Amino acid sequence: MGAMQIPTRREVIENHQEAGGRVAAVLPVHNPRGLLRSFDLLPVEVWGPPGMDTTTGDEHLQAYTCSIVRCSLAFVLSGALEAVDVIVVPHACDSLQGLGSLMIDFIKPSQPVLPMYLPRQAGAAAQDFMAAELRALFERLVEITGKRPTEVEVMAAVEREEEADGLLTQLSRQRAQLSLSCPELYRVMRAREYLPAERFAVVARHALEQRAAEPRSGVPLILSGLLPEPMRILEVIAEAGGRVAADDLACCGRRLYPPGRSDDPLQRLAQSLLGGSPDATRGSSVQDRVDHLQRLVLQSGAKAVVFYLVKFCEPELFYLPQLRAALERSGVRSVTIEVDVGDPMSHQVVTRLEALLETLG
Ligand code: SF4
Repeated sequence: MGAMQIPTRREVIENHQEAGGRVAAVLPVHNPRGLLRSFDLLPVEVWGPPGMDTTTGDEHLQAYTCSIVRCSLAFVLSGALEAVDVIVVPHACDSLQGLGSLMIDFIKPSQPVLPMYLPRQAGAAAQDFMAAELRALFERLVEITGKRPTEVEVMAAVEREEEADGLLTQLSRQRAQLSLSCPELYRVMRAREYLPAERFAVVARHALEQRAAEPRSGVPLILSGLLPEPMRILEVIAEAGGRVAADDLACCGRRLYPPGRSDDPLQRLAQSLLGGSPDATRGSSVQDRVDHLQRLVLQSGAKAVVFYLVKFCEPELFYLPQLRAALERSGVRSVTIEVDVGDPMSHQVVTRLEALLETLG
């Protein structure tokens, strides 16, 4: 058995719409999937997308805006989102908040643009804030769709997503025992960005059955940042003798949400969303992020952390000096590589990774 064929975003969207469903385009990072699915809105995430010609959107943005926001705006302006029913913009950072305002006040796409604020702290007050945001989003969706799902329906949708998140967690944590190559594994894990939870569960279970005869070889690394784009980065690491043993990526490792506990579905969803590992876009403390990275290093046996960052990503760059200094004090090497999500893999990046792996091997 090899890796299972994963349908493309386009195929998934078309199938869902042909069956009478609606689609929500969701920008990074934290996606209220269960809530959207209870309105029969399929959440399809937009991380850029990479490779967009951003010139149409650039005139609206400052020159030091990250490529995720630049590509997203160009994507909206290109009309590629015409077929979706709503656009959800979580306020993960100032740039995304600015993009949300720009769309609502100036671009005015044909679909409703729904902002979603995130608490910037932990604890009970943060959970109540998140649940209140989800309730406000729920009421906007009632207005837009004319449908009011019952508590039982919302809970069923939230629990279905929890099951998919549990499988994503298993994939991430058991990666060393799986026979999938690193690019194959990330194609499966990143299908969580657009497959309905129940279809993702089928693909994930199949991948979890693909056990390797021996544990994977290669110098273990941790990849930290937003997303592994261009995906070629994963092949470059493998070709240079490394392997991604764990990740602290916003699109994967920071979204291994634990299940919620509340009997109220929106409180439960809030608990789950806030239960992921420390994250710059949720304002986690530097110490929490240091502790988490050190735990990942210990659990995975990683020899170094690669901070693979999107250029001009303020939330990530803010933490970087302190994270690197703390890792260095505990004897863990790290490198920083900054890329634009639309750029091809540069020789310079390849050379730096090769040099790092040579010294660690
Ligand atoms: S890459 Fe960074 S700055 Fe850009 S949208 Fe993501 S979190 Fe915000």
